Amino acid sequence: MIQSNRLTKEQYTVNFSDIHPPFETADAALVEANRCLFCYDAPCTKSCPTGIDVPKFIKQIATENIKGSAHTIFSSNIMGAGCSKVCPVEKLCEGSCVFNLMEEEPIPIAKLQRYSTEKAMEKNWQLFRRNEPTGKKVAVVGAGPAGLSCAHVLSRAGVDVTIYEKEAKGGGLMTYGIAAYKVTPQFCEDEVNYILGIGGIEVRYNQELGKDISLTQLKKDYDAVYLAMGVGIARKLDIPGEKLEGVVDAIQFIYDIRSNGFSSVPVGDKVAVIGMGMTAIDAATQAKRLGASEVTLVYRRTEAEKPCTDVELDIAKLDGCEIIWLAAPLKVKGSNGKVKQLVCSKMKLGEPDASGRRSPVDTGETFAMEVDMVIKAAGQVPYEKLVKKYKLDNKNGKLVLKDKATTNIKGVFAGGDAVNGGKEVVDAVQAGKDGAKAILEFLKLC
Ligand code: SF4
Repeated sequence: MIQSNRLTKEQYTVNFSDIHPPFETADAALVEANRCLFCYDAPCTKSCPTGIDVPKFIKQIATENIKGSAHTIFSSNIMGAGCSKVCPVEKLCEGSCVFNLMEEEPIPIAKLQRYSTEKAMEKNWQLFRRNEPTGKKVAVVGAGPAGLSCAHVLSRAGVDVTIYEKEAKGGGLMTYGIAAYKVTPQFCEDEVNYILGIGGIEVRYNQELGKDISLTQLKKDYDAVYLAMGVGIARKLDIPGEKLEGVVDAIQFIYDIRSNGFSSVPVGDKVAVIGMGMTAIDAATQAKRLGASEVTLVYRRTEAEKPCTDVELDIAKLDGCEIIWLAAPLKVKGSNGKVKQLVCSKMKLGEPDASGRRSPVDTGETFAMEVDMVIKAAGQVPYEKLVKKYKLDNKNGKLVLKDKATTNIKGVFAGGDAVNGGKEVVDAVQAGKDGAKAILEFLKLC
């Protein structure tokens, strides 16, 4: 049965405590920093989408220059604190560390990054100053990682920025769409405030593009516009029974956990999660941690094609989640309007599709699972209607750019999930930097 408040307060605290705890002492950080070989042509830096100078910031920690270290990180990635908690480092910096080649533990780059950046946030070290005002003003749509990153670079260059955010808080998916044991809502709020601490950035909350504000008006009122509204609408399964009580969107489920608190969020006894991306893993593990007795992830391909990392999958397995590979939802059956059963098709792999991964093909065989909750995590779709309304070049709703940041409309730039359909936070931060660079060139400020 679906119900909230399944566990005690203490159990929620334990289940949602920090999955990657920080160093306990400064000495522990120093020991790890001193293991680094400070490689010339460092592969860790090359594999960071924002190009953080990893050996430099680790060297600064090793010489106890924590402020300098934080400056090095934030110069490349203003969300370096949050990224140290949510980046899939096993496929980025830490996965490229030369220690892997020696079959030794890589340098814990994320933990060291967290060490410096959290100290900077805690002490409110404002490490950047704004240039003289340029008299230019830019509107940014979306206070997620791409929007904040773009706004920060522009503000540093002396541009006045107004961010229009549809939610009541900033941070985007970092604030609303990631498991609470990775980043807490409080941390996200602190991080947004820290970024805004530079000044020159006003955020107007509860302002949605196409509803409360229009692109036409923004173009009139500002020298340039940066679109970073992300993707928002959960992809439908388009199967019978999708409207039954107990079928929920993963993003909404995670959003509710983060906004309403653990004890308020209803969860089933037996939960099926459709999908195998990071959002699916976050939904499955959190359903388990909210007190569901059985959680099963259902994925239409095999483990070799899964979009999540091995580390993410291990978290789900360690939390006791079951996994069914090569299965696709066919229908949800109910009783009295509530979910009772999920019927799935058994799949096999066929020829590779456009993504290069082998496509799932229906075998015609089916099986049923007794469940009382189905969480849909089959991806999110872009704001297709909205971008078409404004005649922005797009492919199925995803914005198509002329270069790294320029749309087909003069003075309108874009980046982040609205363009790529949904990648990592760190990719969005880099997109924001690219957007700011293009805007500064457009405004002839660089
Ligand atoms: Fe240090 Fe590893 Fe990067 Fe080399 S690859 S600089 S050892 S973190």
